[in-house]
Amino acid sequence: MGIFINVIVDSGKCKVATGCTECISICPVDIFFKDDHTLKIKDEDECTLCYQCTEICHESAIEIVKNY
Ligand code: SF4
Ligand code: SF4
Repeated sequence: MGIFINVIVDSGKCKVATGCTECISICPVDIFFKDDHTLKIKDEDECTLCYQCTEICHESAIEIVKNY
C-alpha cells in the first residue's frame, strides 16, 4: 500500500490468470507484475497518474486512488 497513491486491482475482475498482461506491459514505471497467476503491485507511490492502465484494462479492474 502506498502512502500517497493506492493502485487497487479487483481480483474478481482481473484476467491475468487467463493470460492478460496489458497493464503490466503499458505501465511506464513497472508497478504491475505477475506472480503465480496473480497480479501483484509494487511501489504504488511511483505511480505517475498517467492512467494508461485504467484505460487499457478491458475489465475495468484497476482503480487509482490519490490520498492527498
Ligand atoms: S489489464 Fe486488467 S485484466 Fe488485464 S492483467 Fe491488468 S488488471 Fe488484470
Ligand atoms: S496510472 Fe500509469 S503509472 Fe500509475 S499504475 Fe497505471 S500505468 Fe502505472
